Amino acid sequence: MIEKGRESLYQDYLEIIDLFRSYLKRKIKTEKNQGYEKQGSNRGEENSQVLLGNLCHSIQNCQKCSLHKLRNNLVFGAGNPDAELMLIGEAPGREEDLQGKPFVGAAGRLLTETLGRVGLSRADVYIANILKCRPPGNRNPQPEEIKVCFPYLERQIEIIKPKLMCTMGNFASQLLLNTSQGITRIRGKIQWYKESISVIPIFHPAACIYKPGWERDFLEDLKMVCDELKKRNNSKNNLVV
Ligand code: URA
Repeated sequence: MIEKGRESLYQDYLEIIDLFRSYLKRKIKTEKNQGYEKQGSNRGEENSQVLLGNLCHSIQNCQKCSLHKLRNNLVFGAGNPDAELMLIGEAPGREEDLQGKPFVGAAGRLLTETLGRVGLSRADVYIANILKCRPPGNRNPQPEEIKVCFPYLERQIEIIKPKLMCTMGNFASQLLLNTSQGITRIRGKIQWYKESISVIPIFHPAACIYKPGWERDFLEDLKMVCDELKKRNNSKNNLVV
């Protein structure tokens, strides 16, 4: 049996390989399509990487709400700084707080695996949460926490300029779409964020673990997301799936 520490080390190696693979794919595409720029995007992939890096650095010591007192790590976000697809969750859980990375616990494993089944890797997309710090006992985010933390996510979206966003679960969906409708009603329906970016609400992977049938819906929704991306993409896109 493989030792847990070693397995996590191998997972880190796989993630580095994926990131490098995705970087090379983007480089090949960019060089093939010289002269092309994703509409309204930052010029050059280094730019959004630097902007995200600066933002991440600037909020490392954030103390705008009480969650900072309990955190081991602030969980900023991870993935391709020029992603065409952004996935947005609620808040870090225990494992995320310990590792400083989003979606690395049980829900994260389901998300990573399902992305793989539709031909996407974590290195192709960007994953972030509404809250950057873990609420104690994984309780729901409180309005005052959302109020101070949401601007960080808004800035991430502004920098990345994704073509499509997936809000996972009630919290992210209701906040970004400014609706009180529940996820079971709105899942899979294309909507808009600030009249500029398409949003497809989907179930939260954590809920799919224990709700019978939701895992299959989660896969179907991510397939649809992937098809939408392909539709929007012509030969001149950045995403290679
Ligand atoms: N659930 C979330 O909403 N985000 C994470 O990063 C992990 C679990």
